[in-house]
Amino acid sequence: MRHTLASGETRQVFEGIGAVGTAAFYVLSIVTVAAFLIGSWRRTQKYRRGRPAGRGGTIRRALLVSPLALRRRPDTGSVAQVATNATIGRRNRGVGIAHFMVFWGFITLFIGTVILTIDFDIVRHVSKWFWGHEDSFFTGTFYLGYSVVLDTMGVATVLGLTYLALRRGVRPPARLDYSRAEQPAGGYSRKALVLGDWMFIGLFAGILITGFLGEAVRIVANKFPEFEIWSPAGWLLARGFEAVGLSAGAAATTHTVVWWSHAFLALGFVIYIPYSKAMHMLVDGVNLLAHDKNATRALPAPPADADHIGYRELADFTWKELLDFDACTKCGRCHEVCPARTGGAPLSPRDLILDLRQWADLQTGGKTLLDREQRPDATGPLQNGQAAVAGTVIPAKTLWSCTTCMACVEACPVGIEHVPTIVQMRRSLVDAGTMDPTLQQALQNLASQGNSFGKSARMRARWTKGLETPIKDARKEPVKYLWFVGDYASFDERLQDNSRLLATLLTKAGVDFGILYEGERNAGNDVRRVGEEGLFEMLAEQNIKSLEAAQFEEIFTTDPHSLNTLRNEYPALGATYKVWHYTELLVHLVESGALPVKPLNLRVTYHDPCYLSRYNGVIEAPRTLLAALGCELVEMPRNKTNSFCCGAGGGRIWMDDSVLSERPSENRIKEAAALEDVGHFVVSCPKDMTMYSDAAKTTGHDGTLTVLDIVRLVDQALVRPPAEPATDDVAVPV
Ligand code: SF4
Ligand code: SF4
Repeated sequence: MRHTLASGETRQVFEGIGAVGTAAFYVLSIVTVAAFLIGSWRRTQKYRRGRPAGRGGTIRRALLVSPLALRRRPDTGSVAQVATNATIGRRNRGVGIAHFMVFWGFITLFIGTVILTIDFDIVRHVSKWFWGHEDSFFTGTFYLGYSVVLDTMGVATVLGLTYLALRRGVRPPARLDYSRAEQPAGGYSRKALVLGDWMFIGLFAGILITGFLGEAVRIVANKFPEFEIWSPAGWLLARGFEAVGLSAGAAATTHTVVWWSHAFLALGFVIYIPYSKAMHMLVDGVNLLAHDKNATRALPAPPADADHIGYRELADFTWKELLDFDACTKCGRCHEVCPARTGGAPLSPRDLILDLRQWADLQTGGKTLLDREQRPDATGPLQNGQAAVAGTVIPAKTLWSCTTCMACVEACPVGIEHVPTIVQMRRSLVDAGTMDPTLQQALQNLASQGNSFGKSARMRARWTKGLETPIKDARKEPVKYLWFVGDYASFDERLQDNSRLLATLLTKAGVDFGILYEGERNAGNDVRRVGEEGLFEMLAEQNIKSLEAAQFEEIFTTDPHSLNTLRNEYPALGATYKVWHYTELLVHLVESGALPVKPLNLRVTYHDPCYLSRYNGVIEAPRTLLAALGCELVEMPRNKTNSFCCGAGGGRIWMDDSVLSERPSENRIKEAAALEDVGHFVVSCPKDMTMYSDAAKTTGHDGTLTVLDIVRLVDQALVRPPAEPATDDVAVPV
């Protein structure tokens, strides 16, 4: 079996290994491939147990339609995204570059091994059978090119891996700490997770190090053939060995030891992949290609054929969700940005995914080496058998802590979609009646009156009383714009001034608009995210009926939550509209001169509502508007799609927040208060107005930071005829 090529620029494959060693290597390789295939097959069987995810079109588009598309914040995955590791580098360039080097280094080294196998095990045999002499393409120019490419990529891999290892080992960021928020210290152990991380890095590094060492001692043993300079790293290392006195004979003996070490590490790593964290190497690319943010914007309706509501058991999850669990690399980016976790709530999106992974593995008999949490008793992710996933494996308090802000989905570099999974489990809790009494009350109000305030539906348009120009009823006369006002802007007395102000400005600008009066209901966005699907459908149907009775061209809304569901979820119910946010309308009116303004010369900061910026990409309109008003915008560190949630979303505004040590809104106000010379905290969502006005008071910043709706600034900047008194003062926040 041992082959030697007579001469030329090449190297022997099993140099110094001998016939028995070569045979043993082949046996070990067959065992390795078998173990890898069994592990991968078991994983695949797990995914096959999931329900259809409806991602065929997403994957096809990612593969075929937009393989080269690499937009800044794409909604769906693409081949380019996977190939460039763009999602990893998006919020951490250093890690992105290091991972890119490791990623492509690994692929190149793998391809190099495949090429060598093709030459050694196929071409040489086939040529011998057909032509009677052994032929090889692994010589001459090809070999030299092969050597320099693999050496270079090997060095890049070592550098990338070194960076990642140092970062993790020397000064690890807080997000890589695996301690849990909701478990007492000592109630669990995650040492195996840490060990799993280091095992992965160690095996990989070991393969690279022994690879270079083997190359270097081979060069020394062969007395520095000139062409081996095309393996520059190995050559330099060999010169180093020579300098410390390694003889050719000693190098030949060392080569055998190093060769076997390399072989064992490489084969061991291949076996390790499907049973460990290294599995992410196989599934993350697929998970990204199947990723679609629209699945979070527009939540899936419960499957028509399900015999229960929400997720209770493994069979309820889709294959994409099961793939999500294995795709998690424990990078902690979601954990870091989660407002619930930051505020001390018992929720970490990372731990939620890891718990579901461990539970799913337990259910399916999956074997994960390391990377498993240990507990003294069978609780949480260690539950098996009949335990319902929602409420037992994942505690109810964890599921209710989520604000559905989507920060986790946005931050995750491998396309994991936490929010739909959380909502599916909430549906199960709602079905079982496991919820906060205050939430229950809000849902009852919504069911009986169509608003969470519990006020009579007939009072919805009370806020319009006293307006100089009455607002048209779009059900009675045609209008260009239908203003979907939303619950908070309609019923909260602290916010009604802002609603009246907006109505006055629109009238002044000559905008043809109307409202639905008592025909409007809560749009249902947060009701759906609470998990009350039946109530969502009822509210949506009532709104659609009212909208069908009205005559309008386009909708604008004051409420980003309503915008999301009207724009993204109503189409599945047969109602498709063009929906704008009021800041988009205002910027148009200011820029067109319909609302003439003078510069305010204020230094302000602006808070991006999650449902506006992250969910719906409305980022520039409020900024352009502020610039048009002559405001100097000082950005908070967390801005645009990286905005920090106020804590109200996903129905949290209706729930008890005593689990929090610090409200997300308070955290946010402190972030704004730390900005230099900024006295105005500008919002563009009625719920934000409520949340941040309260937070400014509770944090003691209400004297220095004025929370105000952007409409107040427009009013303040408006150029009025000399006799006309100002509608209001900019310092009045509510
Ligand atoms: S949606 Fe927001 S609150 Fe919920 S888990 Fe993700 S980051 Fe945390
Ligand atoms: S879910 Fe995504 S962001 Fe969170 S730890 Fe896992 S890979 Fe990282």
